[in-house]
Amino acid sequence: MRQKSMKKYDIIIAGAGPAGLTAAVELSKKFKILVIERRKPGTTSSTWYSYADRAAKYNIEEAVTTRFKEIRFTSPTQKHYMKDDCVVLDHNKVLELWIKRAKANGVVIRQEAFRDYKYADGGVKVITSKGEYFTRLLIDAMGSGSEIIARHNLIKRHDAWVIYGGLIKHEKHEKPYFLEYYPLNDKDNTYVGIHPHSDTETNIYVFQGRSNTMGNPAELKEIFNKTIAELEPNGEKIQNLGGTIVSGSLKKYALDNIIFFGASGMLNPDGCGMGFNEILKQHQTFAKGIAKAMKKNALDQKTLSKVADSLRDQETLNFQKIIGAFSLYFIKSKGKWDGGVKWLNAMGEESKYWMRNEFTMDWIMKANLRLHKVIPIKETVSMIPMDNLPFVLEQLARFSVKAATSVVKNRMKK
Ligand SMILES: Cc1cc2nc3c(=O)[nH]c(=O)nc-3n(C[C@H](O)[C@H](O)[C@H](O)COP(=O)(O)OP(=O)(O)OC[C@H]3O[C@@H](n4cnc5c(N)ncnc54)[C@H](O)[C@@H]3O)c2cc1C
Repeated sequence: MRQKSMKKYDIIIAGAGPAGLTAAVELSKKFKILVIERRKPGTTSSTWYSYADRAAKYNIEEAVTTRFKEIRFTSPTQKHYMKDDCVVLDHNKVLELWIKRAKANGVVIRQEAFRDYKYADGGVKVITSKGEYFTRLLIDAMGSGSEIIARHNLIKRHDAWVIYGGLIKHEKHEKPYFLEYYPLNDKDNTYVGIHPHSDTETNIYVFQGRSNTMGNPAELKEIFNKTIAELEPNGEKIQNLGGTIVSGSLKKYALDNIIFFGASGMLNPDGCGMGFNEILKQHQTFAKGIAKAMKKNALDQKTLSKVADSLRDQETLNFQKIIGAFSLYFIKSKGKWDGGVKWLNAMGEESKYWMRNEFTMDWIMKANLRLHKVIPIKETVSMIPMDNLPFVLEQLARFSVKAATSVVKNRMKK
C-alpha cells in the first residue's frame, strides 16, 4: 500500500554537480526525472577551466569569465607554457545554467540527501533525508565520496589530488594573475593553482598528489592560509573551494538499476584533475546509452556496464594510468615535478592533448617515446613502486614496439 503513495520517476539522479545536471538536461528530453542534492542546488566548491571550443559546443559560453592563450606549468627548475584557447568558468553560473535548462524540461530538483536504496517492483526505492521515491533507474552522480561506492567497497585502485582554497577578492595589482600551476617547493610538495575570474577576483588553491587515499582537504588549510597571507595579504575569501579529485578504477561501474556517472564513476583522467572537462565531453554519449537501455527496459548490471564502458577507451586508459603513475611518483624523485614538465616541453605544442584527454594512437606512441627519452628507465625503476612497475614497463614496451613498427611500415611504404 505504501508503495502506491510513493512518487514515481523514470530516473532519479543523486547529486547535482556537473555529472548529475548534464545527465538531467539531456535525459529530461525523454524521461521524467528527479534530482536530489544535499547542498543548495547550484553551488559547488570546485572551480573549472575548460576550452573555448568546448564552452561553445556544450553551450556554456555565458559562464565564461576569462580567456587565456596558455596554461603555465612550473616545476622546481622547469617551465612549460601549454598553448591552447583556455577559458575559466564561473562555476556556480555553469550549474545555474544547467539547472535552468533542466527545470525548463520538467526536471524536479530537491534539496534532499540520498540515504539508502532498496530493490522493489523491478526498480529501486530511493530513501532520502525527506522521503521515499520509486524509480526504474538510479544514476549515482554523488562525486568521489559516493556512499553507494563506499558501501559496496567498489574501488579497485585510486589516487587523489587533494585541494583546499578559496575565491579571493583582492585589489587590482600590477602583475596580473595567469591560469597557472606552480610549486611551493615545500617538504610536502604542495602546488598552487590559479584560476582568475577577473582583475579583482581569483580562485586560488593549494593541492597535493597522493596515492591510495581519498585525501582530506582540511589538512591543507594551514598551508593555504600561509600562502594566501603572502600572496594576497589584504584579500578576502568570498567562497570556499576544495575537494578531492579521485582517479583510478572501480570493480563495477554499474549495479542492477544503478549506474555511476562522473567522479563517482571514476571519470577523471588519471594524472590530471580534469574531471569536469571529461563530463562535458562524455555526457551526451552517456545519455544516449541510458536512453537506449531505458527504451529497451534493459537496466540490468550487464547492460548498464556496457553504457559505462562506452565512455572508456582501453588504450587511453592504459596511457593515462602510465602518466598517472609517473605524475604521482615524480614527486618522490629528486627533482620532484621536473620530470613531468620536461615531458610537457618535449611534447611541445602537442602537450595540450594530455590535459584535454584527446588522444590518437600516434599521439600516445609519441608521448610514450618522449617520456622514455626524458626519464631514463633507470630512474623509472627507482621511482615507481613495485606493484605498479610491471604494468608501467609492459605498457611502455608495448607502445614503443607499436611506434617502432609504425615507423618501419611508413618507411617501407616510401
Ligand atoms: C578546487 C577544484 C578545482 C578543479 N578544477 C578543475 C578544472 O579546472 N577542470 C576540470 O575539468 N575539473 C576540475 N576539477 C574537478 C571537477 O570539479 C570534478 O571532476 C567534477 O566536479 C566532478 O563532477 P561530479 O558531478 O561527478 O561530482 P561533484 O562535482 O563532486 O558533485 C557531486 C554532487 O553530489 C552531491 N552529493 C554528494 N553526496 C550526496 C548525497 N548523499 N545526497 C545528495 N547529494 C549528494 C554533492 O553535494 C555534489 O553537489 C576541480 C575540482 C576542484 C575541487
